[in-house]
Amino acid sequence: MFIEIKDLETNPIDFREEYSPGAIDLGPDLRQLSPLHTEGRADLVEEHHGKHKIIQDIRLKGKLDTSLEADCARCIEPVVHQLSREFDLLYRPLGSDAGRDELSVTDAEAEIGYYQGEGLLLEDAVREQVLLALPLKMICREDCKGLCPQCGKNLNEGDCSCTAPVQDLRWAALKEIRDKLNQ
Ligand SMILES: [Zn+2]
Ligand SMILES: [Zn+2]
Repeated sequence: MFIEIKDLETNPIDFREEYSPGAIDLGPDLRQLSPLHTEGRADLVEEHHGKHKIIQDIRLKGKLDTSLEADCARCIEPVVHQLSREFDLLYRPLGSDAGRDELSVTDAEAEIGYYQGEGLLLEDAVREQVLLALPLKMICREDCKGLCPQCGKNLNEGDCSCTAPVQDLRWAALKEIRDKLNQ
């Protein structure tokens, strides 16, 4: 859905959209499990700079929800993440940034982005919000033990028979010395 400045000049735009998995490209690491639902309102905010200059910003306020799956960063088991987020965003025309100090209080409270040309693609804003809402690394649980670096066993399911690598090296060094002494 393309939100056009010239439409906003007449009226705010209410949106209510549903994106099936794959409709928005979330990158190769995320699997969307259910339709992504978003609704809200787009408004035109006019910033007056001096007597003649008016900058047209798009304010996007609403919420979104969906469920996503990714591999645990430690043990690579699938992790499901229920996502529900409210947003209040301000998009300014690219290249017209007058500096944050000139923004009003209300504008400063909103997150600021930029649009290019005639308006803003809602899907781009939604994608950005989804990615921002997710933790940098998804893990299945706080104390996930991960995989054994030697045999690859999932250590959440029990210990493997590999010994800790640090200890291994120390014993190997001792054995080397002993072997030399015995020669
Ligand atoms: Zn894990
Ligand atoms: Zn192991």
